[in-house]
Amino acid sequence: MRLGYICSSCNKQNYIKDKAETRPDLQMKTGKDELQVNCDSCGKMDKKHINNINAVVDNRIIMAGVFLSLIVTLVLWNYYGAIASISFVIPLLVWISENKALSGFNKYTIRRK
Ligand SMILES: [Zn+2]
Repeated sequence: MRLGYICSSCNKQNYIKDKAETRPDLQMKTGKDELQVNCDSCGKMDKKHINNINAVVDNRIIMAGVFLSLIVTLVLWNYYGAIASISFVIPLLVWISENKALSGFNKYTIRRK
C-alpha cells in the first residue's frame, strides 16, 4: 500500500513518502492536518488535507507477488506437475491483503477543524 493524492492541476496520481496505517496515524506522524505536496508531473506545489490523501495499491508489491508465484510454480512443477500452478494464488493473497490495508486507511477520516 502506498499513500498518494490526485494533483488538482493535472489530475495525475502522486505518491507521498510518509507511511501510515490510518489517517490519524499519518496526522500524528506529520503533526499536521495538511501536507505540503509537490506534483511529480507538473511541479504544482499544493496543500492537501489528510482526508484527501488516499491509500492506493502498491503495484510493485503485486508484481513481486506475481514474480514469486512464477518462481514457486517453476520449482514445484518438476515435482508436482500442473498442480504447482496453485501457487498462482500468491498474488491473489497479496492483492487481498493490500486491499484490506487500503480500506483500513481509507475508511477513517480525521476531524476537520
Ligand atoms: Zn500535477
